[in-house]
Amino acid sequence: MLPLPVFDHHRPRTLAEAIDLLARLGDKAVILAGGTDLLPNMKQGLAEPEHVVSIAGIDELRGISLVREGDADKLVVGAGAKLAEIESSILVRRAAPALAEAASQVGGPHHRSMGTLGGNICLDTRCRYYNQTYFWRKSLGFCLKKDGTVCHVVRGGSRCVAAASNDTAPALIALEADIHLVGPRGARVVEAHDFYVADGVKNTVLEPGELVTRVSITRHPGRRSTFEKLRRRGAIDFPLLSIAVRLDVSGVETSRVDAADVVVSALGARPRRVRAAAKVRPGTPFDVAARELGGGAYAECKPLPNVDDDTEWRREMVPALVERAVARLEG
Ligand SMILES: Cc1cc2nc3c(=O)[nH]c(=O)nc-3n(C[C@H](O)[C@H](O)[C@H](O)COP(=O)(O)OP(=O)(O)OC[C@H]3O[C@@H](n4cnc5c(N)ncnc54)[C@H](O)[C@@H]3O)c2cc1C
Ligand code: SF4
Repeated sequence: MLPLPVFDHHRPRTLAEAIDLLARLGDKAVILAGGTDLLPNMKQGLAEPEHVVSIAGIDELRGISLVREGDADKLVVGAGAKLAEIESSILVRRAAPALAEAASQVGGPHHRSMGTLGGNICLDTRCRYYNQTYFWRKSLGFCLKKDGTVCHVVRGGSRCVAAASNDTAPALIALEADIHLVGPRGARVVEAHDFYVADGVKNTVLEPGELVTRVSITRHPGRRSTFEKLRRRGAIDFPLLSIAVRLDVSGVETSRVDAADVVVSALGARPRRVRAAAKVRPGTPFDVAARELGGGAYAECKPLPNVDDDTEWRREMVPALVERAVARLEG
């Protein structure tokens, strides 16, 4: 078993205290939430903080609620909410089904009862050449993401393409969620789509000392959403592909698709919005939408060998999962 390295552990009780600590400790500190990803990464020498700031005791980060803002109902989920709470919350299942479904498919039951939404949103990217022990990485000569100068996935590549592997990310993007941040320079709100960037070394716009406090999602009548995931072992594994589909639907008896969004993740460093979704015309029957969205996703998504398993198989599964998701939403 790999031991944890030595570090100083801090347990602020308020958000203000946490922000102050993070500002003072600078890049010597990392945030710890549920620890289900950070602690294994520290054991493998992927993160080497001198200080760990646990935000688990901060009440302001907890809770799931539905609030009225102007004319809209908004689902608000605290960054400290556990994935298990999200998956079983009736509020989330009604207002943002894709988020509840994504949370329910993260890792295994232990990861979901410890792991938080904030930790999932800020999850480090993953790669078959990076999520390894120090000894293993050293024998390969390290890589761009840590300690090295080359990429083993894209030979000659100058940018890390490690995979965004957080299942809630595509769901939050498809649901047009807002991510609320606070840091030494105050609070700001970033749309989930703009929160991620195409750089596997650090794939978020989080600034030093900033943390995610909550997520808000506006409820729209006629909006349906769902999540599909490809993984080797259904009981525990990270995604080989994760797909969120959102459809805005009109009519009751013979419902039609008026607008769609499809977000595919675990391909590269940033979850990818399928462009074909923006071309679905209002009033499109479900079976036509399924074909258009599946075909568009297949044309646009080309998985990289950054995670285990055959890239061609992963690519063939893209339209299969998109069409399955649309069929489920029709039902
Ligand atoms: C065997 C195994 C299988 C897994 N399978 C999956 C999977 O299928 N899908 C998946 O998505 N994940 C998976 N995970 C990863 C992990 O369990 C989840 O992503 C979990 O949601 C992480 O949340 P956490 O609270 O434990 O985060 P932590 O491990 O505490 O933190 C993760 C990262 O987020 C940062 N962070 C945490 N909270 C905040 C915040 N509020 N603001 C800013 N930064 C923050 C931390 O500094 C750290 O960099 C798996 C992990 C393991 C070990
Ligand atoms: S994609 Fe390349 S640079 Fe990034 S972790 Fe993998 S091997 Fe390293």
